Amino acid sequence: MAAQASEGQFDLVIIGSGPGGYVTAIRASQLGMKVAIVERELLGGICLNWGCIPTKALLKSGEVYEQLGHLADYGLSVEKRGFDFEAVVKRSRKVAAQLNSGVAFLMKKHKVEVVEGTARLEKGEGAPKVVVALKAGGSRTLTGKSVILATGARARTIPAIGLEPDGERVWTYREALAPKAAPKSLIVIGSGAIGIEFASFYRALGSEVTVVEALPRILPVEDEEVSKAAHKAFEKRGLKFRVPANVKKLTKTKSGVAVEIEADGKTETLGADVCIVAVGIVGNVENLGLEALGVKVERTHVVVDKHGSTGVPGLYAIGDVAGPPWLAHKASHEGVHCVEHIAGLKPTNIESPIPGCTYSTPQIASVGLTEAQAKEQGREPKVGRFPFRVNGKAIAAGETEGFVKTVFDGETGALIGAHMIGGEVTEMIQGFTLAMTLEATEAELQGAVFPHPTMSEAMHEASLDAYGMVLHI
Ligand code: NAD
Repeated sequence: MAAQASEGQFDLVIIGSGPGGYVTAIRASQLGMKVAIVERELLGGICLNWGCIPTKALLKSGEVYEQLGHLADYGLSVEKRGFDFEAVVKRSRKVAAQLNSGVAFLMKKHKVEVVEGTARLEKGEGAPKVVVALKAGGSRTLTGKSVILATGARARTIPAIGLEPDGERVWTYREALAPKAAPKSLIVIGSGAIGIEFASFYRALGSEVTVVEALPRILPVEDEEVSKAAHKAFEKRGLKFRVPANVKKLTKTKSGVAVEIEADGKTETLGADVCIVAVGIVGNVENLGLEALGVKVERTHVVVDKHGSTGVPGLYAIGDVAGPPWLAHKASHEGVHCVEHIAGLKPTNIESPIPGCTYSTPQIASVGLTEAQAKEQGREPKVGRFPFRVNGKAIAAGETEGFVKTVFDGETGALIGAHMIGGEVTEMIQGFTLAMTLEATEAELQGAVFPHPTMSEAMHEASLDAYGMVLHI
């Protein structure tokens, strides 16, 4: 089909409509900008369609199913426990679809023009031009006073040792989200948030799951005590670990996969129906025309300054493609900051602390420095801990696993880190995040009133404990 070129002039052109791109578009529109957003696949990006949201739907199904196995603890019973895997996946896809249409509604409401196709940059008069190969055929050139790259990231693969997904027996998060059936046995390579969430979900449905991690402990970015407690709690649920273990080779067998690992100087081969590769992600920097424009790319991310500027006039990058931490809320935050900077608003929220959550059973959540990081910085931290096993609400709910740990700066008393494992900790971490954003010290946290009975009282107690004032131990 002959390419039909049509022009479009905008204040801002955004490439990618994940939580980075679409939130930026809304904020830009609020600031009076004429905005276009280019998307090659689905509005809402990986997060809404193939990441954060549909995994949470799956995890909820797994959690409810697993809890049914503990009904007797609550004095309850059911005749027979069971699940329909197809229905579990269908629900997860329905949840993703609902949010995807929600983004379409928001784009319409804020008069953001959605251009469906694949974008590439070309040298322009001011900011680079955005040339879109349209999904419907033909191409369209968009010019914007500013252009923001929000193209996200994808799963890292290691073809040299066979860690290359085939969609059948070797999965990335994408295939793991919507397979035809739950595997009887599963090997998960990588114990970051993605690996642990899928391990948790499939274990809840009864799969035999082994997690292989190259570093000395699982969830290696978390505080050491949290990693240790998580390891123990997951083992109690029947998850198996090989830590630290190096994957040497992954091969497909007649009925599944064989993963050759090296641990303690010995080589061992693990077998399973399916393997999930969750060894990190790489930024989507290819085929954008970055090299010709002189955009600096380090490893797989675009190098930017504190406002998201790439150094090429009018070209910015935010979210996963601009580097770690690779989190949806970081992308939205950076996007809003970037567009407010473009509008000349002088936003001051650059250093806002960014929480991280893993939605396994038990959940894990953290913000700021770990105890070890605080010590490495020479801060002599004051550390508090409080276990849920002595928290009234946790006992009543039967959620006594885990604890809250607080890290304060020994000199100033500022809260510099918080780490939690247990029941609803992914909902609670925002309390500490807000405290850190407001630069709260131990005095504010200790003087704040926490509702009783709640699991959040453990946050109060951990803040008291750091200064020898814990009440319920
Ligand atoms: P990750 O980098 O967090 O974890 C990958 C893990 O794989 C690491 O612990 C690494 O040591 C290990 N690893 C690497 N190569 C290995 C090998 N050859 N053998 C064994 N282990 C190996 O990456 P991820 O879990 O894939 O997640 C990607 C990003 O997405 C992360 O930044 C994560 O925070 C983010 N994410 C967040 C959430 C959430 O917030 N709930 C959910 C999913 C993903």
